[in-house]
Amino acid sequence: MDKTLRWIGLALLYLLASPVYVIVFACKVMKLSRGAALMRKGYIDCPHCGATNALDLLATCPKCRATEYGSRLRCTSCGEQSRSFDCDYCSVTIKVL
Ligand SMILES: [Zn+2]
Ligand SMILES: [Zn+2]
Repeated sequence: MDKTLRWIGLALLYLLASPVYVIVFACKVMKLSRGAALMRKGYIDCPHCGATNALDLLATCPKCRATEYGSRLRCTSCGEQSRSFDCDYCSVTIKVL
């Protein structure tokens, strides 16, 4: 009897918590798909000055200092992935993901 009550309590707890999980999951998916759409577009508008920053250009990796053509968010030399970069025009940090 005691065991059954505990199971019911546990099930109730999961049931109550599940909408939170669903919301957290939906937020994550939305954030990821937004980032993916931006990467596909290849350009990001600066939220501060409104300038268009290209994602694919000659960029220097902040970690291994390798300079290469390609996405500024990913280094092919050391595999470093960045979630933000500085605007080319006003140097405000733009968060991508
Ligand atoms: Zn800017
Ligand atoms: Zn690197």
